[in-house]
Amino acid sequence: MAKILVIAEHLDGKLNSAVAKTVSAAAVVGGDIDVLVLAADPAAIAAEAAQIAGVSKVLTVANPANAHALAQVQAPQIAKAAAGYSHVFGPSTTTGKDLMPAVAALLSVNQVSDLMAVEGSHTFKRPIYAGNAIITVEAPADQVVVATVRAASWPEAAKGNSAPVEALAIDAALPGHTRFIGLAAGKSDRPDLQSAKRVVSGGRGVGSEENFKVIYHLADKLGAGVGASRAAVDAGYVPSDMQVGQTGKIIAPELYIAVGISGAIQHLTGIKDAGTIVAINKDGDAPIFEIADIGLVGDLFTLLPELEKAL
Ligand code: FAD
Repeated sequence: MAKILVIAEHLDGKLNSAVAKTVSAAAVVGGDIDVLVLAADPAAIAAEAAQIAGVSKVLTVANPANAHALAQVQAPQIAKAAAGYSHVFGPSTTTGKDLMPAVAALLSVNQVSDLMAVEGSHTFKRPIYAGNAIITVEAPADQVVVATVRAASWPEAAKGNSAPVEALAIDAALPGHTRFIGLAAGKSDRPDLQSAKRVVSGGRGVGSEENFKVIYHLADKLGAGVGASRAAVDAGYVPSDMQVGQTGKIIAPELYIAVGISGAIQHLTGIKDAGTIVAINKDGDAPIFEIADIGLVGDLFTLLPELEKAL
C-alpha cells in the first residue's frame, strides 16, 4: 500500500491552499497520507493541515533553521523524513519547483513534474509542449516517487478532519552556504491571482500602464484578481508577478476575462483549467475567440466602461 508524504508549503504562519490540492492528488494514489510541516514554530500550520480530509497524520519539525522556506535547508530534512514512504509530493508552486528537484536529487530519483492526473500508483499524466500535449509517465516501481502536483488541475481536499499531529526529530546536516536575506513580494489588496475565483487580465491591447486602470476598475467591481499577458508585462504596463501563461502563473479561476489579449498558445496554457472564459478583443479573428465561452468583439475602451456600468 502506498505511503505518501505531502510537503506543507506555508508563509507567515498560514498553509498554502495548494497543499490541500496536493492531498487530493495523493488521495487518488490511495494509501496513507502524512503531511510534513517544517517551520520554526509549526503548531498553527500543523493545526490547519490536520483539518484536511484524507490526511492520516501531520508530522512537524520545529527548527529555527526552518523559519524561511529555503530549498537547500529543507531538502536534506525531507530526504531523511521520506524514509519508509513510497511517494513524496509537493505543490508545483514557485517554492515547490525549487524544493522538490533538490529532494529528488538527494533520494537519487528523477522527479515527476506537474502531475495533472493519476493513472496508477506509479503512472501519471503531465502536460508538455506548453500544454499542447499530455504525456503519460511511469516512475520505476522500486523507487520512491518524488513529484510536484499541478495545483490548477486539482480541487482542494475538503476540511473537517482532525488528524493527529506528531513532532518528528530529524538528524540531518543542514548546509550553511545558503541564508535568508529577505523576501520581496508585491503587495495588493486584490485577491491573489493564483487562488482568485475570478480573474481579469489585460494584454498588449490595453496600451499602457496608465490605461491598465480600466482593468483594475473592472476587477474591483467583480472582486477579481488581476493578471496580464507577457506582452503587457514586457511592455512595462504591469509587474512580472502578474503574468499568466507558460512562463507565468498557471491559474484555474471560475471566471477568466481576457481583455486585449490575442490568445497565443503560451498564454492559453496558463488558463487551460479555467471555468468560463470571456474574451474582449477588437479583432474578431483573434485566436482567443476559439477557446472563449463568451466573446465580445469591440474596442475595450468602449466595452469595459459599459460592462462596468451594467454590473
Ligand atoms: P498581442 O498578441 O499583441 O495581442 C494584443 C491583442 O489586443 C490583439 O488581439 C488586438 O486585436 C487586441 N487589441 C488591441 N487594441 C485593442 C482595443 N482597443 N480593444 C480590444 N482589443 C484590442 N505570453 C503570455 O501571455 N504568457 C506567457 O507565460 C508566455 N510565455 C511565453 C514563453 C515563450 C517561450 C514564448 C516564445 C512566448 C511566450 N509568451 C507568453 C508570449 C506569447 O507568445 C504572446 O506573444 C503574448 O501572449 C501576446 O500577448 P498579447 O495577447 O497581450 O499581445
